[in-house]
Amino acid sequence: MDRGAFLEKAREGAELIGMHIELGHTIRIVSHRDADGITAGAVLAKAVAREGGSFQLSIVKQLSEELIKELAAEKHRIYVFTDLGSGSMELIERYLDFATVVVADHHPPEKEEFSTDSHVLVNPVPFGANSVRDLSGSGVAYFVAREMNERNMDMAYIALVGAVGDMQEIDGTFHGLNLDIIEYGRKLDILEIRKELRLFGRESRPLYQMLAYATHPEIPEITGDERRAIEWLRAKGFDPDMKYWQLREEEKRKLHDALVIHLIKHGAPKEAIDRLIGDVVISPLYPEGDPRHEAREFATLLNATGRLNAGTLGVAICLGDEDAYRKARKMLEDYKREQIEARKFLIQNWSMADEGEHAYVFYAGRNIRDTLVGIAANIAINAGLADPEKPVVVLADSDEDPDLVKGSARTTEKALAKGYHLGEALREVAEKLGGEGGGHAIAAGIRFPKDRIDEFIRLFNEALGRQVGGKSGED
Ligand code: C5P
Ligand code: C5P
Ligand code: ZN
Repeated sequence: MDRGAFLEKAREGAELIGMHIELGHTIRIVSHRDADGITAGAVLAKAVAREGGSFQLSIVKQLSEELIKELAAEKHRIYVFTDLGSGSMELIERYLDFATVVVADHHPPEKEEFSTDSHVLVNPVPFGANSVRDLSGSGVAYFVAREMNERNMDMAYIALVGAVGDMQEIDGTFHGLNLDIIEYGRKLDILEIRKELRLFGRESRPLYQMLAYATHPEIPEITGDERRAIEWLRAKGFDPDMKYWQLREEEKRKLHDALVIHLIKHGAPKEAIDRLIGDVVISPLYPEGDPRHEAREFATLLNATGRLNAGTLGVAICLGDEDAYRKARKMLEDYKREQIEARKFLIQNWSMADEGEHAYVFYAGRNIRDTLVGIAANIAINAGLADPEKPVVVLADSDEDPDLVKGSARTTEKALAKGYHLGEALREVAEKLGGEGGGHAIAAGIRFPKDRIDEFIRLFNEALGRQVGGKSGED
């Protein structure tokens, strides 16, 4: 990718923010409510505060036309969007034409640039980056912050927590500009990368939960079953109540070997085995045993806050607020439990899924919460319910509006090789259904009227068919 051209954009964004700070304007920050968005918002908020500026920050579910109108009515001089905005460039131009706008994001953008000088798109995708591997929203925010002041390089760990939240190292290693962030963090001694078990729970969960909660990859016959996890660990000579961080290096290696053998025995695909052990981000900024000590646990904690509309609590955690951290730990328990329940529901009811020529569509009604449909779609793939070469959409009734459904589409690299782009397909389908949709090639989302699910199934299969040039795509 053209790193220099991307950094030039980050500099442009940083200069605009710096100028408005000097003028005494409040920097209006709007960010996405997952771990990546929360960390992105925190990075910029801290950067602004460090320059003596003031900010107002919101963590939002999505950037809808209504929201952009509401933001416009606030009449700020500058708006900064992080981890979102690239899919709403036309709307931003229409409603925020009176203000400076910086979009610091990694989603595939509507177009390569804004058409006015006062709006800047800082996004690595037009410069050749892969939106789900090379840099996350928090990473983009980090590069903007670094251009505002070199000192902000010390936020490298928080930036990587966002990347891990977005599963940017899902194949087992970091890529692209994420590697630059790792380098800066290492130089400052604020993080290290270890080759370890890439599962949630390194710090605060007993080993049996770490294994039973495993989703990327799943561990055959153990994921979702704490009792089996305990038996398996005992049989291999481990104390199930130990935490992973407490194991000696040779014990870790013994556990890795036993798990790899278990996966091979159960016929797990090579990709699943490759991603089990790989890059794990650790930070000495927090004590061992603290969920914030390791990036995946930290990210999960932040996701738990976002899901309960408490994303600003997540931001406070990133800024070092210990009170906020204690509150959030309670939210995490429910969040993990709900994931296990969603997985059970999906496995028991998968026969209800509509299998079309190009996609599975599973409507969960109110049985799976609308904030968990993305996780559910990935579970359908990782638990072997769906053919990994066919994209999966899980739909659930919207928490906010009974007339709408929220859907998440997920797929695999293998399916992408055929030519699918889920974000483009959902954007196109949403336009036809009177909803909103978009996202990455491998992971995308949509909201649309509940009474149009049948139409959605047809249109989505057709859109995917056109992408791969299949016959069902010929209208
Ligand atoms: O909004 P945003 O870009 O931050 O989110 C990316 C989403 O894509 C996350 O929900 C992440 O879990 C998902 N993802 C995925 N499979 C990948 C990479 C990302 O489901 N291989
Ligand atoms: O909502 P969900 O987690 O399924 O979204 C997957 C990815 O698609 C995220 O990166 C999200 O930001 C993006 N997305 C989008 N536009 C939408 C809905 C989701 O860019 N309308
Ligand atoms: Zn993101």
